[in-house]
Formats: sequence, C-alpha cells, structure tokens
Amino acid sequence: MSIAFIDLKAQYRRIKEDVNTRMQKVLEHGEFIMGPEVAELERALAVFTGAKHCIGVASGTDALLMTLMAHEIGPGDAVFLPSFTFTATAEVVVLLGATPVFVDVTEQSYNLDLASLEAQLRHVRATGNLRPRAVIAVDLFGLPADYPRLRDFARNNALVLIADAAQSLGAVAQERRVGAMADMTATSFFPAKPLGCYGDGGAIFCDDDEEADRLRSIRLHGKGKEKYDIVRIGVNGRLDTLQAAVLLAKLAHFPQELEARERIARRYDELLKGAVTLPPRHAGAQSAWAQYTIRLDNRDAVAAALRSQGIPTAVYYPLPMHLQTAYRRFGRDPGSLPVSERLRHEVLSLPMHPYLDDSSIERICSALLAAVGHGKNVA
Ligand SMILES: *Cc1c(COP(=O)(O)O)cnc(C)c1O
Repeated sequence: MSIAFIDLKAQYRRIKEDVNTRMQKVLEHGEFIMGPEVAELERALAVFTGAKHCIGVASGTDALLMTLMAHEIGPGDAVFLPSFTFTATAEVVVLLGATPVFVDVTEQSYNLDLASLEAQLRHVRATGNLRPRAVIAVDLFGLPADYPRLRDFARNNALVLIADAAQSLGAVAQERRVGAMADMTATSFFPAKPLGCYGDGGAIFCDDDEEADRLRSIRLHGKGKEKYDIVRIGVNGRLDTLQAAVLLAKLAHFPQELEARERIARRYDELLKGAVTLPPRHAGAQSAWAQYTIRLDNRDAVAAALRSQGIPTAVYYPLPMHLQTAYRRFGRDPGSLPVSERLRHEVLSLPMHPYLDDSSIERICSALLAAVGHGKNVA
C-alpha cells in the first residue's frame, strides 16, 4: 500500500461536518466576495498569531507582492532574500521592477545567514547603484528565521523586514508566534501548507494601523474611501469567502494538528537519529513542520529506493534561485552561495501531515534505513 506525502483526505474525513456546514452557509448567504467569513477569519487569525492586523488575500504570492507594494518598492530598490526558497519569494521583487539580491542560508537552520546578508548589503552599498530597502526572511520548512537578530539588523540599516511565512504559520519562537515577528508577515493557505484551504489563499499580518489600511486598499485595486475613488495602484488580491469558510473550520483543529506534527517529527527523529542529518531545531522555537526534511549523501538513490516501495518523497529545492535561468541576470555565479548549492543535492523531504500513523512512520524509516545501508532496527 502506498503512503500519502500529504494526506488531505484523512484530514477531510475528520473535519467534514464543520467544513460542509461552513461552506453551506456561504452558498446560502451568497456573499462570495468579501463576505462575513473573511472578516471573521481575519479576527481569529489576529488573535491566534498575536498580530494586531490580519488581511486575507488571494494567495501567498499576492501576500508577498502586496507587502512590497505597501512599501512602494520598485525600480532601483534592492530586496535581500535567501536563494534557497520557492520561486515566489524572488518573483514578486522582479515583478515590481526591483532587484533581488540573493543571500546564502545557514547549515544550522536553512534560513537566512546574517553574515551573508551583511556581506551582500556591504556589496550593494559599495556598488552604489541600488537603494537597499527590504529583507525577506523565509521560514523554510516551517522553522522561523532568526527574527530577534534580523529585527536589529533591519532597524540598524533602515530596512523593512518582511517574513515569508508561507510554510510556518503556527510556529513559535521566543514566545512569539509567526505573524508577530517581522514588520510584515506573508503567509499562504495553499492546500499543502500547514493551514491550507481548498484552493488558493493567503494572509498578511502587521501591527501598524496605517500599513494595514494601505494593504486593505491595495487588495481592492487601490481604492480610497469610496469604491470608485482610486488613490493608488492596487491588485485584485481578495481572499474568497468560501476559502475563508474552509479555513475557519480548519482553524479549530489547527492547534492539535500542530501538536501532531511535532509528535511525528520527534518520532522520525528517534528512528532516524545517527543514520541521516535530522532537520534543524532551535532552542526556544517550535516549527510548524510544513516539511520534515533530512539531509543525506546518496539522496537520489535513496529516494528511488523509497519510491519503489510506495513511499513518496520530495526535493525542496532542486535548484537555488540564483542558479535558475530566470534569475541568472542578477549576477550570482555558481559557487557564490555554497550552503544553498550544497543543500540542493542533499535535502529530502519525507511524508509529513498530522494524520500520519505510527506504523507508516515505522515503514518509512525501515525502508530509509535499509536504503542508506544503516544497520539500525526500527521495530
Ligand atoms: C508556497 C510558498 C509561497 C507561495 O504561496 P502561494 O499561496 O502558493 O502563492 C511563497 N513562499 C514560500 C516559501 C512558499 O513555500
């Protein structure tokens, strides 16, 4: 029998009634655009994260785009971001005509490396033709970046700190939840994310009242006080009411799901310890475990061995952004960001979702230990 990489059907079986009731209500009231569920979800997520404002938007990518638009980032501006991320983090920068400056990640977290960030900032300043404006930190695989140090760094250098928390909603670090760690936080409700809807969706979190107003205006084509009073360039960036309804039903189960993810990660750790490099953890931080990602040398052969036994795995990411065809013109040579370039050959994400049972975990780990030629016994 094959194992699911992410089992949304197992989740649906458990929350079916809540989801169906919530969706039925929307079908009956008919306010499909900006219906009451959107504001209800925004309030609930602001409480959940501890952020003052939550703005529901159409996707994680739109959320990132809108955070940059709210700071009027455009041509001539430099935006610093890790190269080892999903395309969307870099794409929004280029869409606005700004310049992405790729930074390396650390071996300890796979998140932004402050030393590399400092070096890139110095380089941009020395070159003198770009204005340093913002840093986008990515919480890769669900583990928050080093926000206390990033906040100091951003403040001292007059940079806006944006969190790409597409994979980390629900994570905690230094007693703050993701959403309340950066100037603005963008998250995604893509179905496979820790809190996913049944289509595309996203949200932005911030504490500043004026910035929140600006984001709400950008979300609705840049509207001012009246509907046809257009005060800035915006987008159609709304979260669908039906998706908000799905998320409200799922949010009720989200805390238990986060606990289940942590329990499953610990079980994997226990069984795989000593055989592969385990995912990074941080004292005082709790990952949202969007992915459980190990590192190993003979990655492709191991992935193939697992596949032949009905065990799916994934590689996030096979190529860092600075080596992608579309980003080569931003001038980073192979060899320039060594950790990102090493990780791409070694990372392997294993099945991870809150309903993964212990016998499946044991089966995955037995197959994995055999494939890496490790004598360790799972049972
Ligand atoms: C998923 C993801 C996004 C984009 O989110 P969408 O909702 O798919 O637009 C952005 N950044 C990272 C790191 C992601 O994993």
